[in-house]
Amino acid sequence: MKFLSTTFLVAALTLISAVAQDSRPNIVFIFTDDHCQQALSAYDATRMATPNMDRIAEGGMLFNRCYVTNGICGPSRAVIQTGKHSHLNGFVRNGNTFNGDQQTFPKLLNAAGYQTAVIGKWHLKSTPQGYDYFDVLIGQGPYYNPPMLYGGIEAEATKRDHVGYTTDIIGEKALDWLKNDRDPEKPFMLMFQHKAPHRNWQPGPKYLTWLDDQEIPEPATLFDDYSNRASPAANQTMEIKTHLNDRDLKLVAPNNLTPEQLEAWNAAYEPKNEAYLAKRDSMTEKEIIQWKYQRYVKDYLRSVKSVDDTIGDVLDYLEAEGLDENTVVIYSSDQGWYLGEHGWFDKRWMYEESLKTPLLVKWPGVVEPGSVSNDIVSNLDFAETFLEIAGVDVPEDMQGESFGPILRGKTPRDWRTTFYYHYYEFPGAHSVARHYGVTDGDHKLIQYYHLDEGELFDLKKDPNEMNSVYDSPEYASKRKELESELERLREYYQVPEDPKPEPREPRKKGKSKS
Ligand code: CA
Repeated sequence: MKFLSTTFLVAALTLISAVAQDSRPNIVFIFTDDHCQQALSAYDATRMATPNMDRIAEGGMLFNRCYVTNGICGPSRAVIQTGKHSHLNGFVRNGNTFNGDQQTFPKLLNAAGYQTAVIGKWHLKSTPQGYDYFDVLIGQGPYYNPPMLYGGIEAEATKRDHVGYTTDIIGEKALDWLKNDRDPEKPFMLMFQHKAPHRNWQPGPKYLTWLDDQEIPEPATLFDDYSNRASPAANQTMEIKTHLNDRDLKLVAPNNLTPEQLEAWNAAYEPKNEAYLAKRDSMTEKEIIQWKYQRYVKDYLRSVKSVDDTIGDVLDYLEAEGLDENTVVIYSSDQGWYLGEHGWFDKRWMYEESLKTPLLVKWPGVVEPGSVSNDIVSNLDFAETFLEIAGVDVPEDMQGESFGPILRGKTPRDWRTTFYYHYYEFPGAHSVARHYGVTDGDHKLIQYYHLDEGELFDLKKDPNEMNSVYDSPEYASKRKELESELERLREYYQVPEDPKPEPREPRKKGKSKS
């Protein structure tokens, strides 16, 4: 009896100390919506400083070629959850509903003993599964005063209202979770996910007039005329010139502010708007585009600024608690974005600005501080990488690869050198034709497969993608090479044919004359 109880005691103590000494790294995955490299100073300091995002880069690795597989919000998130392309995870366009019953990386981490949490933007419609704790925006969520859905594996989903600026609220919730809900005996994976800087770029109270006295540089392609490319570039509806509405431009105030918030908002915008409206009739078309660009880009940068502040708070907390040494911090966004390049706002295209997304990874003791990678990595690899960091086997059916070896400074010899992209949301918002394509980082082939049109870019000679060489004899062999690589990748990823959707019934205009 005595022997038995001693054995039991030893076993119990061993188990307790094993749990207490679980030294697997924590993961803080910071994610934003529509944040491009052009507005992150570790990549490009010409528009704004993001000192806290830069802290992650300075302490870790910056990836120049993190490409997304399908450059739009919901689909990118579904790819990250599953490590699978859109056609396999079932979420091919916004408006789909994520099948949360399928295998996801948070479920696998949770089963392996990680405490899992998601705070902020979710945008997959179905209730989050695999998280001990979730507190997420409902749908896109507003910039101010968001209702949020709170729950977890053992807590029923409950809606709660909030007053305040959404970015700040999400930041406070992330800190609060770290301080009060984290289980110190377990490693954790926290997804800290902002809505900002998604359209329509509403700044927080702190930054309503920040940048008022500055001119933001214009991109070289702001006045693109879409010549020398296939037809889709000219046929979209995402031009700063034409498609920003009065709410986007803050000529109309947001409709869900408290009286105090509205007062601060109007105090900031009304004088600027009056000055513009007083001279608008005498401005040239070019001057109006330039004004719209400044208004739009500044509000975008202001929205990013608040995000950067919240990241600073979380990094400070990790450091103050000594948690930073064993925590991998990842910063990324669901895709890149056009800050006026090609005259655009929005994303979707396989062109560089939206294909590339920021990726910064800080992992003390593993990643060389201040290092830079030009290897092609992707949001398709995030699930696999998080699992590898946690020491969990990566399931065979995931389609990406862990970039853990790259983080350790050793790119595998057989690491991918080409990348497959596929955008499906047409007909749809902003009218970007369906396309797929392949790039090796130096050249890019895009096929608008329902239009029988294509584009080929020499990214070294033409980094802004202004001149397609698709039909140029000089590039015939390169085109052939990429066409066959595209076919190979489509087979490799088991991409089915995407049939052309039936044309929609034309909308009836007004009343009939009879
Ligand atoms: Ca997005």
